[in-house]
Amino acid sequence: MKPILTRTNADNATRFALVGGTAILPDRLLENSYIEFTRGVLTRIGQVPKQFPKGLEVIDVTGKYLAPGWIDIHLHGGAGADFMDGTQRAIETAAHAHLRHGTTTMFPTTTTGSQESIMKMIQAVADASEGNDDGLPTLEGVHLYGPYFLPEKSGCHKKTGCRTPKRDEFESYFKTGWIRIATCAAELPGADAFYRAASKRGCLITCGHSDASWNEMAAAHKLGMSHVDHFWCAMSSVPSVRARLGSPMQGSMAEFVLAHSTMSTEVIADGFHLAPELLQFAWQIKGSKLLALVSDTSRALDMPPGQYTFGDPKEEVWIESTGKVGLNPTGGLASSVVALDHCVRHMAKVTKIPLYEIVRMATLTPAERTGIADTRGSLEKGKRSDVLVLNNKLNVERVFYCGN
Ligand SMILES: [Zn+2]
Ligand SMILES: [Zn+2]
Repeated sequence: MKPILTRTNADNATRFALVGGTAILPDRLLENSYIEFTRGVLTRIGQVPKQFPKGLEVIDVTGKYLAPGWIDIHLHGGAGADFMDGTQRAIETAAHAHLRHGTTTMFPTTTTGSQESIMKMIQAVADASEGNDDGLPTLEGVHLYGPYFLPEKSGCHKKTGCRTPKRDEFESYFKTGWIRIATCAAELPGADAFYRAASKRGCLITCGHSDASWNEMAAAHKLGMSHVDHFWCAMSSVPSVRARLGSPMQGSMAEFVLAHSTMSTEVIADGFHLAPELLQFAWQIKGSKLLALVSDTSRALDMPPGQYTFGDPKEEVWIESTGKVGLNPTGGLASSVVALDHCVRHMAKVTKIPLYEIVRMATLTPAERTGIADTRGSLEKGKRSDVLVLNNKLNVERVFYCGN
């Protein structure tokens, strides 16, 4: 099923209203709703009025759910393209693939590629974002994810590409003005300088692919690190910290995140990375305001099962898509092959979390954590007209989105 895509801030966009659907608000469902949009902005929300304003296109969405457009803070590609391919075409291909699944704002994510290939990717995102008027979703900024990982926790990323942060290198990325999310393993030498620089740039600062102890997390947290990438994946545990630092046993990233209401995290809810009880547990402890859903999708999204490169093809890192999940050659997990719509459906299917909280985790929570909640993430007056029409199985039937 191909959803209908409608760009809402194009010059010829008319005023329209979605009438009769169940609107998914951050804290409840609003049945028989009326939502009006004017030139890319939500201008009215409430119950269906007796009379509609003149000159308004009325779209009947009775029996449908309405959700804000998904916001994905961790994704690598789709439809055969990886953002690290580093061409405008690849960026557009991957972004369009996610748009068809309802993701209207995204943060293309780097790998442990070379400095040159990361710079090329950032430039390509800028080119795609600025050079397009044929309706791309919003590329809000780049998630500088690799290369500052602990090699022992590299996951499917090229181990030899993992490195310690050096000022010359990371400042070259920050100077582009495109980095909005910045990841670094907290225990690496130089992490403190990286966190300070990222903090100055106003990034969401995260720790991932790391074996950090509680104390290392605490030091990083003081410097602005407030998020952990894909909880339970490629991160430390009490036994892993014990193996590195000895006894007494110390807290790890997991305990630090669960214990602090100033720390947020995210889960890959594709059904293959984490079992239902872990998804439920993460929400139970962190709540929907501090837990985001991410897709962590590779280029294998909407592609047949088979072998694919992960990241810059020149690096020759191969993963296998089973059609349901990505695997690395040793059988470990290597990214998902689904988008956020699948993650929302999976959460609704296997957990007991209220639907509005599940949707919040794919919309308002990532918006708040990345500082864009003033314009996105919920169906509220004054926000952008990024809105999805979902059927009763939560499949995306129609995507209204603001272009870049
Ligand atoms: Zn990762
Ligand atoms: Zn990833």
